[in-house]
This record gives sequence, structure tokens and C-alpha cells, in this order.
Amino acid sequence: MPRTADRLTLFTESVIREMTRVSNQHGAINLSQGFPDADPPSEVLAAGQQAMLEGPHQYAITWGAPRFREALVKKQRHWMGLDLDAEAHVVVTCGSTEAMMCAMVTACNPGDKVIIFSPYYENYGADAILSGAHPIYVSLHPPDFVFDPDELRAAFAQGPKAIVLCNPSNPSGKVFSREELEFIADLAKAHDAFVITDEVYEHIVYRPHRHCYMAALPGMFERTISCSSLSKTYNMTGWRLGYVIGSETVIAGVRKVHDFLTVGAAAPLQEAAATALELPLSYYEQLTAGYTRKRDMFLAYLDEAGLAYTKPQGAYYVMVDCTAFGVRNDREFCRWMAKEVGVAAVPGSSFFHEPVHHLIRLHFSRSEAILAETGKRLKRITSLL
Ligand code: GLN
Repeated sequence: MPRTADRLTLFTESVIREMTRVSNQHGAINLSQGFPDADPPSEVLAAGQQAMLEGPHQYAITWGAPRFREALVKKQRHWMGLDLDAEAHVVVTCGSTEAMMCAMVTACNPGDKVIIFSPYYENYGADAILSGAHPIYVSLHPPDFVFDPDELRAAFAQGPKAIVLCNPSNPSGKVFSREELEFIADLAKAHDAFVITDEVYEHIVYRPHRHCYMAALPGMFERTISCSSLSKTYNMTGWRLGYVIGSETVIAGVRKVHDFLTVGAAAPLQEAAATALELPLSYYEQLTAGYTRKRDMFLAYLDEAGLAYTKPQGAYYVMVDCTAFGVRNDREFCRWMAKEVGVAAVPGSSFFHEPVHHLIRLHFSRSEAILAETGKRLKRITSLL
């Protein structure tokens, strides 16, 4: 029996998705895998129905259906403030997951180093390993998830080919300030590195925080590979629609990688999702307002339950500190919580390179009724322990 590749031993299966299975097994409220329980906007669903009846049903252009790319470029010109071209600067991918993989393979030769901030969304380590790159981890120190400028300088001194920047950040809820981004940008320029961004939560940012696009900083468009998706903005994680935005040279590379990885994202869904990209600006205001309400409500429930946490500045996750419960093994604690409390979370250690075992991640992209029920259940933790 031939042996499977050695690289597979370098990363584990997704803990996030494992926790969804644990949650289902116990019938718990699933606040582990972060996806919204709302549907896409009704006009997008109607466009989906029409696309199913009328097509297209065959391959779209491999780097994206023209209408989708035009709509995307129009929207992102507004938000990013860049003069984007639908032909030269965009590749449509199967979610940001594929976008990040394409970006990594496009940027890195086997053996290159890639800086990853820790805690990090679990895909980045695997992406680096699958593309033959070696991760260098730089801590975002809890509870405020700030990086130490000297630690970042020291990481860049090792000559990385790229740095991965998840902003707003999963799992920490950190929104990088303009000053922090400028500091990273200066290092990337000084060491001639790419910045690969994952900006899927770009429209879920809580005031007074603001999302600042790395690609829009002076001199950064050429070296930034911007990845994002429609999943979180339009409640369509299952549609698997994402994209890469970059310079003409970068995009020429990404197109090739993407073509041989997946050929393309689903053609009828691209047609329907163009409708989402064409929604008016008020849609994004409502999205932010809705999530701000959910966040404030959920944090109030955590307060009532006596849980300590870092207030998220963006995205829809909150890192909860379980030290007070005497937690030393966050994995066991999450399994116990799903079974006994009826709330499923992700053990924080699955996001950290460092040995951090006192944090768990909860997401609050659920209906207000479910969040209220979660609040009730969380209050019981102390009495159940
Ligand atoms: N991004 C979401 C999370 O972090 C969903 C992960 C996934 O299953 N792709 O929970």
C-alpha cells in the first residue's frame, strides 16, 4: 500500500468543522463554525431562480463572468478607492478559501517563508504548507491582540516572501488601525514582500473602528494580493464565491493557478450574485447596524453570565477567557460545554501557534432569539461545573 504524502502530517483536519459535528451530536446551539443564519437578500434569491431557469449553465470565463467582475469592480472602486479594471485586476474564485490558496501559490516558491499572525484562521497554516512555504508566526498578544513591533521586525528580518493579513480578524475581532497597516506596509516594502489579505469581514466593522484596505495605502497596490468573498457580506457562505484583486502581473499569475485548480466558480451563481454586488450603499449601512445590535446584545449576555472577553472591533466572533472556570484544556471544555451547557464553541488553541489554552471562540451571527437562548444557557455554566 503506497504511503500518502508527508505534507499531510503537517496539519490536522479543521477543528471548526469538527466542533459543528460535536454540536450536532448533542443538539447544542452551534456558535462554533461561523456562518450566518440569515438568507441572502430576496432580490438575489430571485436572480438565482432566474439564473437556474435561463442559465448560464456552462463554464463562465475562467477568471470570472463579465457581469460579476464589472459589478465587483464598480463596488470595490467605491470602497477601496482604487481605479480597478475588471479585465486586468480581478479573478473570481470558489470562496476566499480558494482565493487565499491561489494567492499563496502565486506569491511563493517552495521553501519561501510566510509571516502569519497568531491567533489565525486555521486555513493559513495549511495553505502555506500545501504551497511548500514555511510559516513564521508573529503573536497578536491577548487580550488586546496587539503585535510587538520588534517581533514583527525580527520576523521580516528572516526574509519572508509574504505576510498574511486577516483584517478584520478572525478569530480575534481585531481591526488593524491605519497606523498598524502603515507599519506593516513599510516593512513589506523594505523587505520586498507581498501582503496577502483576507478581508471577508470588510463590511462588519464596529464604530468607531473603520476598515482600511492595505491595497489602498500609498505604493501598496503592486505588492498586495487582496482576497475576499461574498459569503459574509450577503449571507451566502454555501455559494462559494470569492475573488482576488491585484496588479496586472499578480492577476496574470493568479489566473493560471485558479484555472488549473478549479477552472472557475459556478456560472449561474456568479450571474445571480452580480445582483448582490449591485445593491445600494444603504445595504452595507444596514448590515453594520444589524451586526452592531447583535454584538452589543451578545456581549451583554456574556456580562450577565460573568464571562470575560475581548470586545470585538470587527467580524462576528468573540474570544472568551475561561481562566475563571479553571480551564486548562480548552478542547475538553468545549466538548463539555456542547454536551452539558448546550452551546458549541471552538477551542481557542486551534487558532494559536503558541500554547494558549484558556480561550474559546463564540460567534454571534445568529438570530436575536437564538442569542437570547444562548445567554440563558451560558448563565448556567458556573452551577454545572
Ligand atoms: N470562516 C468561518 C469560521 O471561521 C467558517 C469556517 C469554515 O468552515 N470554512 O468559522
